[in-house]
Amino acid sequence: MEFNKSKEIYNEAVKYIPGGVNSPVRAFKSVGMEPIFIERAKGAKIYDADSNEYTDYICSWGPLILGHSNDELLEGFVDILKKGTSYGVPTKIEVDVAKFICENYTQVEMVRMVNSGTEATMSALRTARAYTKRNKIVKFEGCYHGHSDSLLVKSGSGTITYNVPTSPGVPEDTIKDTLVCRYNDLESVINVFDEYKDQIAAGIVEPVAGNMGVVPAKKEFLEGLRKITKDNNSVLIFDEVITGFRLAFGGAKEVYGVEADMTCFGKIIGAGLPVGAYGGKREIMEMVSPLGPVYQAGTLSGNPLAMYMGYKNLLILKERKDDIYNHMERLAKKLESGFNKIIEELNLADKLCVSRINGMISLFFTNGPIVSYDSVKDCDTNMYGKFFRAMLERGFLLPPAQFEGFFLSYAHTDEDVDKTIEATKESIKEIYSIN
Ligand SMILES: *Cc1c(COP(=O)(O)O)cnc(C)c1O
Repeated sequence: MEFNKSKEIYNEAVKYIPGGVNSPVRAFKSVGMEPIFIERAKGAKIYDADSNEYTDYICSWGPLILGHSNDELLEGFVDILKKGTSYGVPTKIEVDVAKFICENYTQVEMVRMVNSGTEATMSALRTARAYTKRNKIVKFEGCYHGHSDSLLVKSGSGTITYNVPTSPGVPEDTIKDTLVCRYNDLESVINVFDEYKDQIAAGIVEPVAGNMGVVPAKKEFLEGLRKITKDNNSVLIFDEVITGFRLAFGGAKEVYGVEADMTCFGKIIGAGLPVGAYGGKREIMEMVSPLGPVYQAGTLSGNPLAMYMGYKNLLILKERKDDIYNHMERLAKKLESGFNKIIEELNLADKLCVSRINGMISLFFTNGPIVSYDSVKDCDTNMYGKFFRAMLERGFLLPPAQFEGFFLSYAHTDEDVDKTIEATKESIKEIYSIN
Protein backbone atom coordinates (compact mmCIF):
# COMPACT_ATOMS: atom_id res chain seq x y z
CA MET A 1 0.00 0.00 0.00
CA GLU A 2 1.38 3.40 -1.03
CA PHE A 3 0.82 6.62 0.88
CA ASN A 4 2.74 9.00 -1.41
CA LYS A 5 0.01 11.59 -1.92
CA SER A 6 -0.96 11.56 1.76
CA LYS A 7 2.68 12.10 2.61
CA GLU A 8 2.94 15.01 0.20
CA ILE A 9 -0.14 16.68 1.71
CA TYR A 10 1.13 16.03 5.22
CA ASN A 11 4.46 17.68 4.45
CA GLU A 12 2.55 20.82 3.44
CA ALA A 13 0.10 20.51 6.34
CA VAL A 14 2.76 20.58 9.06
CA LYS A 15 3.98 23.94 7.78
CA TYR A 16 0.65 25.64 8.37
CA ILE A 17 -1.32 23.63 10.93
CA PRO A 18 0.07 22.54 14.32
CA GLY A 19 1.02 18.90 13.80
CA GLY A 20 -0.61 19.08 10.40
CA VAL A 21 -4.06 18.28 11.81
CA ASN A 22 -7.07 20.05 13.28
CA SER A 23 -7.61 17.55 16.10
CA PRO A 24 -4.73 15.65 17.77
CA VAL A 25 -5.96 12.06 17.31
CA ARG A 26 -5.94 12.55 13.52
CA ALA A 27 -2.14 12.79 13.55
CA PHE A 28 -1.87 8.95 13.91
CA LYS A 29 1.01 9.68 16.29
CA SER A 30 -0.04 7.11 18.85
CA VAL A 31 -0.06 4.39 16.19
CA GLY A 32 3.40 5.34 15.02
CA MET A 33 2.76 6.67 11.55
CA GLU A 34 1.89 9.76 9.58
CA PRO A 35 -1.78 10.43 8.88
CA ILE A 36 -3.59 9.43 5.73
CA PHE A 37 -5.59 12.20 4.07
CA ILE A 38 -9.10 11.35 2.98
CA GLU A 39 -10.57 12.19 -0.39
CA ARG A 40 -14.04 10.70 -0.22
CA ALA A 41 -16.19 8.04 1.41
CA LYS A 42 -19.37 6.11 0.73
CA GLY A 43 -21.28 3.82 3.05
CA ALA A 44 -18.74 1.92 5.15
CA LYS A 45 -15.87 2.54 2.73
CA ILE A 46 -13.41 5.40 2.86
CA TYR A 47 -10.75 6.37 0.29
CA ASP A 48 -7.53 8.26 0.85
CA ALA A 49 -5.62 10.61 -1.44
CA ASP A 50 -3.73 7.63 -2.90
CA SER A 51 -7.07 5.96 -3.71
CA ASN A 52 -6.53 3.23 -1.12
CA GLU A 53 -9.86 1.78 -0.01
CA TYR A 54 -10.60 0.96 3.63
CA THR A 55 -13.52 -0.34 5.62
CA ASP A 56 -14.04 2.53 8.05
CA TYR A 57 -14.37 2.00 11.80
CA ILE A 58 -13.96 5.68 12.68
CA CYS A 59 -17.12 6.98 10.98
CA SER A 60 -16.14 10.53 11.92
CA TRP A 61 -16.03 9.32 15.59
CA GLY A 62 -19.70 8.46 15.70
CA PRO A 63 -21.87 10.91 13.77
CA LEU A 64 -22.14 8.79 10.61
CA ILE A 65 -24.50 6.24 12.01
CA LEU A 66 -26.04 5.69 8.56
CA GLY A 67 -22.63 5.51 6.90
CA HIS A 68 -20.80 8.02 4.72
CA SER A 69 -22.63 10.26 2.21
CA ASN A 70 -25.93 8.49 2.73
CA ASP A 71 -28.17 9.09 -0.30
CA GLU A 72 -31.31 9.59 1.72
CA LEU A 73 -29.65 12.20 3.93
CA LEU A 74 -28.15 14.03 0.98
CA GLU A 75 -31.38 14.15 -0.97
CA GLY A 76 -32.75 17.69 -0.81
CA PHE A 77 -29.63 19.04 0.87
CA VAL A 78 -28.52 21.10 -2.14
CA ASP A 79 -31.94 22.76 -2.27
CA ILE A 80 -31.56 23.81 1.36
CA LEU A 81 -28.03 25.02 0.66
CA LYS A 82 -29.25 27.14 -2.25
CA LYS A 83 -31.75 28.90 -0.01
CA GLY A 84 -28.93 30.21 2.17
CA THR A 85 -26.26 28.91 4.49
CA SER A 86 -26.84 30.86 7.72
CA TYR A 87 -29.06 33.75 8.71
CA GLY A 88 -28.32 34.78 12.27
CA VAL A 89 -32.08 34.95 12.70
CA PRO A 90 -34.18 31.92 13.75
CA THR A 91 -35.50 29.23 11.41
CA LYS A 92 -38.26 26.67 11.85
CA ILE A 93 -35.97 23.67 11.45
CA GLU A 94 -34.31 24.60 14.77
CA VAL A 95 -37.69 24.20 16.44
CA ASP A 96 -38.26 20.87 14.70
CA VAL A 97 -34.96 19.50 16.04
CA ALA A 98 -35.53 20.83 19.56
CA LYS A 99 -39.06 19.41 19.63
CA PHE A 100 -37.84 16.06 18.35
CA ILE A 101 -35.19 15.79 21.04
CA CYS A 102 -37.62 16.79 23.81
CA GLU A 103 -40.32 14.41 22.61
CA ASN A 104 -37.95 11.48 22.39
CA TYR A 105 -35.84 12.15 25.51
CA THR A 106 -38.63 12.78 27.98
CA GLN A 107 -36.31 14.06 30.72
CA VAL A 108 -35.18 16.81 28.32
CA GLU A 109 -37.89 19.46 28.47
CA MET A 110 -35.95 22.28 26.82
CA VAL A 111 -32.82 22.20 24.71
CA ARG A 112 -30.31 24.69 23.34
CA MET A 113 -28.33 23.98 20.15
CA VAL A 114 -24.60 24.70 20.02
CA ASN A 115 -21.84 23.79 17.57
CA SER A 116 -19.89 21.05 19.33
CA GLY A 117 -19.93 18.60 22.20
CA THR A 118 -17.35 20.77 23.97
CA GLU A 119 -19.72 23.71 23.96
CA ALA A 120 -22.59 21.52 25.10
CA THR A 121 -20.85 20.23 28.25
CA MET A 122 -19.25 23.58 29.05
CA SER A 123 -22.60 25.35 28.82
CA ALA A 124 -24.45 22.63 30.74
CA LEU A 125 -21.99 23.02 33.61
CA ARG A 126 -22.31 26.80 33.61
CA THR A 127 -26.07 26.42 33.79
CA ALA A 128 -25.89 23.82 36.57
CA ARG A 129 -23.54 26.02 38.57
CA ALA A 130 -25.84 29.01 38.21
CA TYR A 131 -28.90 26.91 39.06
CA THR A 132 -27.40 25.45 42.26
CA LYS A 133 -25.34 28.56 43.13
CA ARG A 134 -22.40 26.23 43.75
CA ASN A 135 -19.01 25.98 42.08
CA LYS A 136 -17.63 22.46 42.46
CA ILE A 137 -18.18 19.76 39.89
CA VAL A 138 -17.49 16.04 39.89
CA LYS A 139 -16.12 14.23 36.86
CA PHE A 140 -14.70 10.75 36.37
CA GLU A 141 -11.24 9.60 35.50
CA GLY A 142 -11.03 8.59 31.85
CA CYS A 143 -14.22 10.41 30.85
CA TYR A 144 -13.82 13.08 28.20
CA HIS A 145 -16.24 15.95 27.91
CA GLY A 146 -14.53 18.09 25.30
CA HIS A 147 -11.63 20.45 25.84
CA SER A 148 -13.07 23.31 27.88
CA ASP A 149 -10.68 24.36 30.66
CA SER A 150 -12.51 23.15 33.75
CA LEU A 151 -13.08 19.69 32.24
CA LEU A 152 -9.58 19.10 30.96
CA VAL A 153 -8.58 17.00 33.94
CA LYS A 154 -7.92 13.29 33.70
CA SER A 155 -9.89 13.03 30.49
CA GLY A 156 -9.66 10.25 27.98
CA SER A 157 -8.44 9.48 24.44
CA GLY A 158 -6.11 12.23 23.25
CA THR A 159 -4.98 13.12 26.73
CA ILE A 160 -4.48 9.52 27.88
CA THR A 161 -2.70 8.65 24.68
CA TYR A 162 -0.31 11.55 25.03
CA ASN A 163 -0.02 11.20 28.78
CA VAL A 164 -1.15 14.74 29.45
CA PRO A 165 -3.59 14.29 32.32
CA THR A 166 -4.15 17.99 32.23
CA SER A 167 -2.97 20.58 29.78
CA PRO A 168 -0.58 23.47 30.22
CA GLY A 169 -2.49 26.68 29.68
CA VAL A 170 -5.25 25.60 32.04
CA PRO A 171 -4.76 27.72 35.18
CA GLU A 172 -4.85 25.80 38.43
CA ASP A 173 -7.54 28.19 39.63
CA THR A 174 -9.78 27.03 36.82
CA ILE A 175 -9.63 23.37 37.79
CA LYS A 176 -9.55 23.76 41.56
CA ASP A 177 -13.31 23.19 41.61
CA THR A 178 -13.12 20.05 39.46
CA LEU A 179 -13.19 16.93 41.63
CA VAL A 180 -12.23 13.66 39.99
CA CYS A 181 -13.75 10.32 41.02
CA ARG A 182 -13.20 6.78 39.78
CA TYR A 183 -15.51 5.40 37.12
CA ASN A 184 -17.78 2.58 38.32
CA ASP A 185 -16.67 3.27 41.91
CA LEU A 186 -19.54 4.62 43.98
CA GLU A 187 -17.40 4.69 47.11
CA SER A 188 -15.23 7.42 45.59
CA VAL A 189 -18.36 9.44 44.79
CA ILE A 190 -19.79 9.07 48.29
CA ASN A 191 -16.51 10.25 49.80
CA VAL A 192 -16.31 13.36 47.66
CA PHE A 193 -19.94 14.31 48.30
CA ASP A 194 -19.32 13.85 52.03
CA GLU A 195 -16.20 15.95 52.01
CA TYR A 196 -17.70 18.78 49.96
CA LYS A 197 -21.19 18.82 51.39
CA ASP A 198 -23.48 21.43 49.80
CA GLN A 199 -20.69 22.63 47.52
CA ILE A 200 -21.10 20.38 44.49
CA ALA A 201 -23.11 21.88 41.64
CA ALA A 202 -23.06 18.88 39.36
CA GLY A 203 -21.75 15.45 38.52
CA ILE A 204 -21.00 14.90 34.86
CA VAL A 205 -20.49 11.42 33.43
CA GLU A 206 -20.33 9.49 30.18
CA PRO A 207 -22.93 6.80 30.97
CA VAL A 208 -20.93 4.51 28.72
CA ALA A 209 -17.38 5.78 28.60
CA GLY A 210 -16.25 6.00 25.00
CA ASN A 211 -13.07 8.00 25.36
CA MET A 212 -10.91 5.50 27.22
CA GLY A 213 -12.08 2.82 24.83
CA VAL A 214 -15.56 1.45 25.47
CA VAL A 215 -16.09 1.03 29.22
CA PRO A 216 -19.76 0.55 30.11
CA ALA A 217 -21.00 1.85 33.45
CA LYS A 218 -22.48 -0.70 35.81
CA LYS A 219 -26.18 -0.18 36.32
CA GLU A 220 -25.75 0.16 40.10
CA PHE A 221 -23.11 2.82 39.51
CA LEU A 222 -25.42 5.08 37.49
CA GLU A 223 -28.32 4.39 39.85
CA GLY A 224 -26.12 5.24 42.82
CA LEU A 225 -24.87 8.39 41.15
CA ARG A 226 -28.46 9.38 40.48
CA LYS A 227 -29.36 8.92 44.13
CA ILE A 228 -26.30 10.69 45.56
CA THR A 229 -26.68 13.74 43.30
CA LYS A 230 -30.38 13.94 44.08
CA ASP A 231 -29.83 13.63 47.84
CA ASN A 232 -27.31 16.45 47.66
CA ASN A 233 -29.40 18.71 45.42
CA SER A 234 -26.72 18.50 42.76
CA VAL A 235 -27.44 18.32 39.05
CA LEU A 236 -26.70 15.02 37.31
CA ILE A 237 -25.44 15.59 33.77
CA PHE A 238 -25.24 12.71 31.30
CA ASP A 239 -22.75 13.43 28.57
CA GLU A 240 -24.46 11.50 25.78
CA VAL A 241 -22.41 13.10 23.02
CA ILE A 242 -21.41 9.62 21.84
CA THR A 243 -24.18 7.48 23.30
CA GLY A 244 -27.17 9.70 22.48
CA PHE A 245 -29.09 8.16 19.57
CA ARG A 246 -26.20 5.66 19.13
CA LEU A 247 -26.12 3.23 22.05
CA ALA A 248 -29.85 2.91 21.46
CA PHE A 249 -32.38 5.30 19.98
CA GLY A 250 -33.03 6.59 23.50
CA GLY A 251 -29.33 6.52 24.36
CA ALA A 252 -27.93 5.44 27.70
CA LYS A 253 -30.98 6.54 29.66
CA GLU A 254 -33.04 4.01 27.70
CA VAL A 255 -30.49 1.24 28.16
CA TYR A 256 -29.93 1.87 31.89
CA GLY A 257 -33.30 3.31 32.84
CA VAL A 258 -31.61 6.13 34.74
CA GLU A 259 -32.65 9.72 34.07
CA ALA A 260 -30.29 12.66 34.38
CA ASP A 261 -31.31 16.25 35.11
CA MET A 262 -29.38 17.50 32.10
CA THR A 263 -28.19 15.74 28.95
CA CYS A 264 -25.55 16.74 26.41
CA PHE A 265 -25.70 15.71 22.79
CA GLY A 266 -23.41 16.05 19.79
CA LYS A 267 -21.96 13.83 17.11
CA ILE A 268 -25.03 11.81 15.98
CA ILE A 269 -27.53 14.68 16.07
CA GLY A 270 -25.50 16.52 13.42
CA ALA A 271 -24.98 13.51 11.12
CA GLY A 272 -21.51 14.78 10.24
CA LEU A 273 -22.13 18.53 10.37
CA PRO A 274 -20.96 20.54 13.41
CA VAL A 275 -23.66 20.31 16.08
CA GLY A 276 -24.00 19.95 19.82
CA ALA A 277 -26.90 20.47 22.20
CA TYR A 278 -27.59 20.61 25.91
CA GLY A 279 -30.93 20.27 27.55
CA GLY A 280 -32.73 19.18 30.66
CA LYS A 281 -35.45 19.96 33.09
CA ARG A 282 -37.40 23.08 32.28
CA GLU A 283 -36.59 24.66 35.62
CA ILE A 284 -32.87 24.35 34.95
CA MET A 285 -32.95 25.34 31.29
CA GLU A 286 -35.00 28.42 32.12
CA MET A 287 -31.75 29.75 33.58
CA VAL A 288 -30.35 30.16 30.06
CA SER A 289 -30.25 33.57 28.35
CA PRO A 290 -32.35 35.33 27.12
CA LEU A 291 -34.98 33.70 29.36
CA GLY A 292 -32.62 33.62 32.33
CA PRO A 293 -29.31 35.17 33.40
CA VAL A 294 -26.84 32.49 32.21
CA TYR A 295 -25.13 33.81 29.11
CA GLN A 296 -24.52 31.43 26.24
CA ALA A 297 -24.61 32.26 22.54
CA GLY A 298 -23.39 31.19 19.10
CA THR A 299 -23.16 32.88 15.70
CA LEU A 300 -23.69 29.58 13.89
CA SER A 301 -25.71 27.73 16.54
CA GLY A 302 -28.71 25.95 15.04
CA ASN A 303 -27.20 26.41 11.59
CA PRO A 304 -29.88 25.53 9.02
CA LEU A 305 -27.70 23.11 7.04
CA ALA A 306 -26.65 21.23 10.18
CA MET A 307 -30.23 21.23 11.46
CA TYR A 308 -31.58 19.91 8.17
CA MET A 309 -29.05 17.08 8.06
CA GLY A 310 -29.43 16.29 11.74
CA TYR A 311 -33.21 16.31 11.68
CA LYS A 312 -33.41 14.02 8.69
CA ASN A 313 -30.94 11.67 10.35
CA LEU A 314 -33.01 11.61 13.55
CA LEU A 315 -36.24 10.96 11.63
CA ILE A 316 -34.67 7.99 9.83
CA LEU A 317 -33.26 6.62 13.11
CA LYS A 318 -36.69 6.80 14.69
CA GLU A 319 -38.59 5.37 11.76
CA ARG A 320 -36.29 2.36 11.41
CA LYS A 321 -34.89 2.11 14.89
CA ASP A 322 -35.38 -1.62 15.38
CA ASP A 323 -33.69 -2.40 12.13
CA ILE A 324 -30.81 0.08 12.55
CA TYR A 325 -29.90 -0.53 16.19
CA ASN A 326 -30.34 -4.30 15.92
CA HIS A 327 -28.10 -4.32 12.88
CA MET A 328 -25.28 -2.50 14.66
CA GLU A 329 -25.63 -4.58 17.79
CA ARG A 330 -25.60 -7.81 15.80
CA LEU A 331 -22.43 -6.78 13.96
CA ALA A 332 -20.76 -5.70 17.21
CA LYS A 333 -21.64 -9.07 18.75
CA LYS A 334 -20.21 -10.81 15.73
CA LEU A 335 -16.98 -8.82 16.08
CA GLU A 336 -16.92 -9.62 19.78
CA SER A 337 -17.25 -13.36 19.32
CA GLY A 338 -14.81 -13.29 16.40
CA PHE A 339 -12.22 -11.46 18.50
CA ASN A 340 -12.81 -13.71 21.48
CA LYS A 341 -12.33 -16.78 19.33
CA ILE A 342 -9.00 -15.42 18.08
CA ILE A 343 -7.90 -14.63 21.64
CA GLU A 344 -8.77 -18.15 22.73
CA GLU A 345 -7.26 -19.92 19.73
CA LEU A 346 -4.02 -18.00 19.95
CA ASN A 347 -3.89 -18.21 23.72
CA LEU A 348 -3.71 -14.45 24.24
CA ALA A 349 -6.15 -13.96 27.12
CA ASP A 350 -3.41 -12.37 29.20
CA LYS A 351 -2.77 -9.79 26.48
CA LEU A 352 -6.09 -8.98 24.82
CA CYS A 353 -9.71 -8.52 25.77
CA VAL A 354 -12.96 -7.24 24.30
CA SER A 355 -15.36 -4.79 25.86
CA ARG A 356 -18.81 -4.33 24.31
CA ILE A 357 -22.23 -2.90 25.04
CA ASN A 358 -24.91 -2.87 22.33
CA GLY A 359 -23.22 -1.60 19.16
CA MET A 360 -20.20 -0.05 20.94
CA ILE A 361 -17.04 -2.18 21.08
CA SER A 362 -13.32 -1.97 21.87
CA LEU A 363 -10.43 -4.40 21.57
CA PHE A 364 -8.06 -3.68 24.45
CA PHE A 365 -4.42 -4.71 24.49
CA THR A 366 -4.54 -5.71 28.13
CA ASN A 367 -6.27 -8.41 30.14
CA GLY A 368 -9.79 -7.90 31.49
CA PRO A 369 -12.09 -7.26 33.12
CA ILE A 370 -12.50 -3.66 31.99
CA VAL A 371 -14.29 -1.50 34.58
CA SER A 372 -12.47 1.78 34.92
CA TYR A 373 -9.54 3.87 33.80
CA ASP A 374 -7.30 1.73 36.00
CA SER A 375 -8.21 -1.33 33.91
CA VAL A 376 -7.16 0.30 30.65
CA LYS A 377 -4.28 2.56 31.54
CA ASP A 378 -1.67 -0.17 31.19
CA CYS A 379 -2.76 -1.20 27.71
CA ASP A 380 0.11 -2.02 25.39
CA THR A 381 -0.32 0.99 23.11
CA ASN A 382 2.77 0.02 21.18
CA MET A 383 1.16 -3.30 20.20
CA TYR A 384 -2.07 -1.48 19.35
CA GLY A 385 -0.05 0.72 17.00
CA LYS A 386 1.38 -2.36 15.29
CA PHE A 387 -2.10 -3.85 15.06
CA PHE A 388 -3.50 -0.63 13.61
CA ARG A 389 -0.82 -0.58 10.91
CA ALA A 390 -1.25 -4.27 10.09
CA MET A 391 -5.01 -3.70 9.70
CA LEU A 392 -4.53 -0.57 7.59
CA GLU A 393 -2.33 -2.55 5.20
CA ARG A 394 -5.19 -5.02 4.85
CA GLY A 395 -7.73 -2.27 4.10
CA PHE A 396 -9.29 -1.58 7.50
CA LEU A 397 -9.23 1.88 9.06
CA LEU A 398 -9.45 1.45 12.83
CA PRO A 399 -9.42 4.30 15.33
CA PRO A 400 -5.80 5.53 15.37
CA ALA A 401 -5.58 5.22 19.16
CA GLN A 402 -6.12 2.43 21.66
CA PHE A 403 -8.40 4.55 23.82
CA GLU A 404 -11.24 4.86 21.33
CA GLY A 405 -14.05 2.52 20.42
CA PHE A 406 -14.67 1.03 16.97
CA PHE A 407 -17.55 2.88 15.33
CA LEU A 408 -19.98 0.80 13.34
CA SER A 409 -22.68 2.15 11.07
CA TYR A 410 -25.85 0.88 9.48
CA ALA A 411 -23.87 0.71 6.22
CA HIS A 412 -21.46 -1.93 7.55
CA THR A 413 -22.32 -5.41 6.31
CA ASP A 414 -21.86 -8.94 7.57
CA GLU A 415 -19.27 -9.37 4.87
CA ASP A 416 -17.34 -6.32 6.13
CA VAL A 417 -17.31 -7.77 9.62
CA ASP A 418 -16.35 -11.29 8.50
CA LYS A 419 -13.42 -9.85 6.57
CA THR A 420 -12.48 -7.68 9.54
CA ILE A 421 -12.31 -10.74 11.77
CA GLU A 422 -10.20 -12.60 9.21
CA ALA A 423 -7.81 -9.65 8.90
CA THR A 424 -7.69 -9.31 12.68
CA LYS A 425 -6.55 -12.91 13.01
CA GLU A 426 -3.81 -12.45 10.41
CA SER A 427 -2.72 -9.14 11.94
CA ILE A 428 -2.62 -10.45 15.49
CA LYS A 429 -0.57 -13.47 14.37
CA GLU A 430 1.77 -11.16 12.50
CA ILE A 431 2.38 -8.72 15.36
CA TYR A 432 2.86 -11.46 17.97
CA SER A 433 4.90 -13.59 15.52
CA ILE A 434 2.61 -16.60 15.85
CA ASN A 435 2.64 -19.13 13.01
C1 LIG B 1 -16.63 13.88 21.31
C2 LIG B 1 -17.08 14.10 22.69
C3 LIG B 1 -17.18 15.37 23.26
C4 LIG B 1 -16.68 16.59 22.56
O1 LIG B 1 -17.39 16.88 21.39
P1 LIG B 1 -16.72 17.81 20.29
O2 LIG B 1 -17.80 17.96 19.27
O3 LIG B 1 -15.51 17.09 19.80
O4 LIG B 1 -16.38 19.09 20.95
C5 LIG B 1 -17.73 15.49 24.51
N1 LIG B 1 -18.15 14.42 25.20
C6 LIG B 1 -18.05 13.17 24.70
C7 LIG B 1 -18.55 12.02 25.50
C8 LIG B 1 -17.50 12.97 23.45
O5 LIG B 1 -17.36 11.74 22.97
